[in-house]
Parts: sequence; C-alpha cells; structure tokens
Amino acid sequence: MADSVQHDAVINWISGPVLRATATTPLHMNEAVKVGQRALLGEVIRIDGDQAVIQVYEDTTGLKPGDPVSATGAPLSVKLGPGLLGNIFDGLLRPLNEQGRYVRPGISQNHNSKQYAFSPLIKQGDLATRGTLFGSVHRDDARLQRCMSPPNCDGRVVSIKPAGEYSDEETLCILDCGDDQVRELSMSHFWPVRQPRPVLRRLPIKGPLFTGQRILDSMFPIGCGSRAAMPGGFGTGKTVLQETLAKWCDADVIIYVGCGERGNEMASVLHDFPSLLDPRTGRPLMERTVIIANTSNMPVAAREASIYTAVTVGEYYRDMGLRVALMADSTSRWAEALREISGRLGELPGEGGYPAYLSSRQADFYERAAHVHSLSGNVGSLTIIGAVSPPSADFSEPVTTHTKRYVHCFWGLDASRAQARFYPAIHPLQSYSQDVEALSHFWSQNGHPNWARQRQRFLALLEDQARLERMARIIGKDALPPRQQHVLLCAELINEAFLRQSAFSETDRYCSAERQIAMMQIITRFIKLSENAIELGITLEAISALAVMRRLMRMGEEIGEDDLDKFDQLRAELDHSFTRLTRSEAEGHES
Ligand code: ADP
Repeated sequence: MADSVQHDAVINWISGPVLRATATTPLHMNEAVKVGQRALLGEVIRIDGDQAVIQVYEDTTGLKPGDPVSATGAPLSVKLGPGLLGNIFDGLLRPLNEQGRYVRPGISQNHNSKQYAFSPLIKQGDLATRGTLFGSVHRDDARLQRCMSPPNCDGRVVSIKPAGEYSDEETLCILDCGDDQVRELSMSHFWPVRQPRPVLRRLPIKGPLFTGQRILDSMFPIGCGSRAAMPGGFGTGKTVLQETLAKWCDADVIIYVGCGERGNEMASVLHDFPSLLDPRTGRPLMERTVIIANTSNMPVAAREASIYTAVTVGEYYRDMGLRVALMADSTSRWAEALREISGRLGELPGEGGYPAYLSSRQADFYERAAHVHSLSGNVGSLTIIGAVSPPSADFSEPVTTHTKRYVHCFWGLDASRAQARFYPAIHPLQSYSQDVEALSHFWSQNGHPNWARQRQRFLALLEDQARLERMARIIGKDALPPRQQHVLLCAELINEAFLRQSAFSETDRYCSAERQIAMMQIITRFIKLSENAIELGITLEAISALAVMRRLMRMGEEIGEDDLDKFDQLRAELDHSFTRLTRSEAEGHES
C-alpha cells in the first residue's frame, strides 16, 4: 500500500478514467497528481475555479468521492536514464519485466537499484552547458550511452566522480550554476513528456533511414528525422511492417510503442525481439530497443500518454547524437483514447466524434520528429513512423486525413494487395515520399546515380499498368497492342520481382542497398532489351517464354546477400537470351 496521501483536493465525481476534484490548494494545469489511497498517477487537464478535472493513468476501480488527491508540483514527467535500453515499459515508463504479471497500482518509475559502469567525459573546472555529455555508461547488454546534463541546467564543474559502478540516481557531477546555486547531476534526469526537448537548431533531411525494404528505400524512402504514416485496414500488414522496420532499419536506437493494440500482437513482439540479431552488428537487437507496451486492455488515459512518453525517450537518445526511429502502432488507437476522454469531459465532438483538437495533437506529435544539432553539439535524429488503422480502410476518415498533413512519407497499405498475399501491401500509386530529392545523393554515393530516373520509370510503368488493366477489363488483354502488353509485362516484373518482399523469408526479409541497386538495374536492363525486341517484331509470348524470366521473377528469393555476384551471371544470361532471341528472329526473317 502506498503512503497515506496528503489532501490538495478531494474527489467529487468519477467517470472511468476522468474525475473531478475540489481543490483545497491551487492545482496547476498539466500538473501530475496522486489520486486516492493507492496514489494512482493522474494529470490535471482542466481547471475551473476550485474544480479540477483530472485524467487518471491507472484503473480507477475502487475510487470514491471523498478520496484525496495530492499535487506533485511537477508536470507529468518520465525518468530518462541508462536503464531504458533493452527493456519493456508501460505507457508511463514503468518497467514491465520487473513487475510479474501486472504493474502494481501507484508504482512509480523512479526505482532502479542497478549499478552501471560510468566513465567521466569532463573534468573539474570545465564548463558544462545545457545538454553537455559529461560521462558515458557502458552496459554489456546494451549499446554505449551518454550521460547528459538536463537541457535546463548549466554551470562549472565543481566535482565529478571517477570511473566506476554507480546507481542511476547517485550524484556523479556537481555544477556551480552561479548565484550560489548548485546542481547535482546523476546518470538520469526527469523530463516532462508533453514538452519537446530543446535543440540548438533543426537541420534539413540529409540521409535515409535505411530499412532494407525495397518498396520503401527504392520507391518511397524516408529520411532520418522525417515522419511517415502507414495507414491500412485490418490485416493489411501494418504490425508486420512496423516490426520489420524495427528489426532491420539502420537506426542506432528503436523505440517501439504498441499503443492500444491487441495483447497477442504485443506478445509476438515481446517474444520475437529478444531472440533477434542485428544484421549489421550481429549483436542482439534488444540492445538498441526500448519497447513501450500499452495494449487495448490497459487504461485508456495511459494510452494517450504513451505516445508522448515514447517521443520523449526518442528525443533523449537523439540528444546524445544518435539516430532514433520511433514506431507507433497504432496512432488511431491513440486518437480513440483522446475521443473517449473528450467524450467523458462532455466536450463538443468534432468530425468522427473526435475532439476538435485532434489535428493539433497529431501535429504536436509528428512535429517532434527532427534531424537536429542537439544542445550537446552532436547531430542526431528522431524519425517517427506511425501506423494508422482507419475503420473500413477508409482513408478519408479524420485521423488519416489529418495525419497526411503532417507526414512527409505516406505508405498506403492496400486491402486488395493484402488479400492477394502481396506483401508489403503498400500501394505504389497511393503512396508518396517528399524526401526523394533529399535522398538522391545517398544512392549516387552508393554507385547508383540513375536512381531517381529509374524510380520514376518504375512508377510511370505502374501507373500505365493501372490504366491499361482497366482498359483490358473492357476489351480483353489480347486486344491490346504489343507495346501496351509489354508495359503490363514490365509492371508485373517490377511488382513480383522487386516490390514483393516477404518479411518471413530468410533470404529476402532484408535487402541491402547494393542488392536493391543490382535488382533495379537488372529490371531496367530487361525493360530496355525487351523494348528493343518488341521494336524488332519479336512477340511478347516469345519474351515471356524465356527461361530467364522465371529467374528474374524469383531473384529476391534466389540471390541472397552473400552471393551478389550471381547478379552478374543473371545479367549475362539476360543479355544472352535476348541476343539469341533477336538472332533467331532475324534468321526467321531471312529464311
Ligand atoms: P494489421 O496489423 O494491419 O492488422 P498484420 O501486420 O497483423 O496486419 O498482418 C496480417 C498478416 O499478413 C500477417 O499475419 C502475415 O501473415 C501477413 N503479412 C503482413 N505483412 C507481411 C509481410 N511483409 N510479409 C509476409 N507476410 C506478411
């Protein structure tokens, strides 16, 4: 049982996670409060005279009018420190793997008895400005982390502890901040979740967040510090894609938020992640991962907070100079939490029953994605990828339409592709990326200066395919002229050989930049050779019947990362097949 709670307010009305209390001492807007005898965590969300409205982040069963509320004097904050990586938390950053089956009510996040290996990076007499990296923390089971002075404190170092093992709350560094003010710094600090962490300056998007997924990297790439949404109906592959990105993208730190999803989906994440290895380092993926789990049966207000918690953790690692990717599955469940709380507050509902401030809340969230010069002087980024689950896969519903306004990349998942088991089910004609221009130089540096042109060509062929298929449904495919049938063949090759990529295939679940380039170039070569062949009067049937076609279609599965030279053989075979075809065509004409 928690300590007895002092009275700053007394509950007079309760409706699910929302309650009203009569304040005996003034409460502040967005102040965190402890509610009832169990000291449940809540937040003040409205004040009207001495009446405060409070949302409670835990199950309110058993609370009653007359129960006390005590103010904490601080906004809802989370503890940022070295214990985060490799662990699983609830929406308020309370560790789940140390709690047994359930988090005990009223438990706080600041209890951590572990010792971490600290090495100082500055010395006595140095000036520690806001965000200075004053030490590093080494953990055998996680990537190297830094200790930062909080963004709201600077001064001259009076003392700093030597290298050694310390707990995350022990004072390691003492700063003289002037005016007789002294600040004690430990490995961890608190930061209010709804307040973006300050930066020196925002930078334009420069490099990609490489995902190893062809349809993303080569067709709709996302830059580090950018934001993307993946809307899709039930079963279109949002969760699998989010997990795939969390596993294979080249970020230094992954924050995975399961927000309001079914428990068994979260269970698969919790089960899979600890056993996976990072393809780049060969080390366990959990070393760079923080999982925030807030399943559909957890309190609705905590779901609303979990998104802000996650983004705050993301900014914390960004400020260390790391590249962070945040996957949120799903932002629609978060919007539903907003709607439920707003409904209980009796607010006037807007479009779809969502509160009028839905759009600005979404903007607040996505705006926190950035590529920055952090206060520590390092360059870091936070990329946000949010899944959206529109009811009935209707992309015109409010959450999807508002999200579209704030993201740079839109990866629309298509139900008919998913039904045909074509994965990832991202529809190339309903998706876009505004980062393409900024990322062209990445492909040039990797030896693919024609990337933007080839990408454009692929998209144009896919667009033509959609148009011609509509026509073919009316007049029949055979009635199309050979050039148009050729377009259909090329588009089929792009779809089957390039865009299709199973997340469960050992060979193909990750595709390096080199392999993507080789595949793109070989398809481009096929398009050119087959175009010439059609010009020479060779029939489409003859081209389709080439043995090399089958190998092209299956190259993703058949040519793995370790045998990239097989692409040279495939290309030689392709050239040879077309030479033979044109020669026999020419001989046929002569005879
Ligand atoms: P959603 O989260 O949109 O409801 P899921 O991510 O759970 O959908 O995907 C549903 C099913 O589709 C998965 O169980 C899996 O069989 C299949 N699937 C989705 N994405 C892929 C993929 N990239 N590769 C292979 N199969 C996939």
